Amino acid sequence: MENPDRLETFNREIRNRIAGRRSPRKIWVTSLSFCLRKAALSTYLETFKYERTGEMLLGTLLHRWVQENVDLEEIEFEVPLEYEITDGWVLVGRADAILGDKVLEFKLKGFNPENGPGSLDEMEEPSKIWKEQLNAYLNMAGLEEGYIYVFDRDGLDFRHFKVEREGEAFSKMLGRARVVINGVEALEQGKFPAWIRPRYSRECESCIFRPICGAIDKPWEKSR
Ligand code: SF4
Repeated sequence: MENPDRLETFNREIRNRIAGRRSPRKIWVTSLSFCLRKAALSTYLETFKYERTGEMLLGTLLHRWVQENVDLEEIEFEVPLEYEITDGWVLVGRADAILGDKVLEFKLKGFNPENGPGSLDEMEEPSKIWKEQLNAYLNMAGLEEGYIYVFDRDGLDFRHFKVEREGEAFSKMLGRARVVINGVEALEQGKFPAWIRPRYSRECESCIFRPICGAIDKPWEKSR
């Protein structure tokens, strides 16, 4: 008996192989906290691994330092996580650590009173982006509780902040992933996803795709 869905899956797999793409296709949790057009371009062009910033490299050094200096039986570092968004697409991420049934994220932060809290002690809560990313990892891992460890970049003192799993925020993140999938599918059909706008007003300033967006619609010149 004909099954159109399975036929469509079969067709998609052939198209992926012809284009040299791996399957299922991956969307990184971290990419969903920023401009979704950037995430779509990055997924379509497969440039994600070349988009590491100096800040991300410092974060990697912090993770290594914790990993090499903390020796606990129950802790696992750099834990890969996956969640199927829809047929052929998976949300992927890597939790910095899982200690028993708690997901841990390690963040490095500089403090400047002109731009947020002036010190680690004055910090009331971690950033919205960090919380939504940890919440995604909790949902993907099926765990209820996690902690964001914030390390002061100038002194290596730290504090930790509790985050509890929230289903609604994760549903919103999956909605953002579907916007990225639509954007990638448009690019594959030769259409530019101009309907996707940057999430934050200054994102375009340092974006590697600025020359492409500049040639098409210069979103940074339009009011949001
Ligand atoms: S230049 Fe701006 S709109 Fe274009 S992908 Fe980058 S952040 Fe998004």
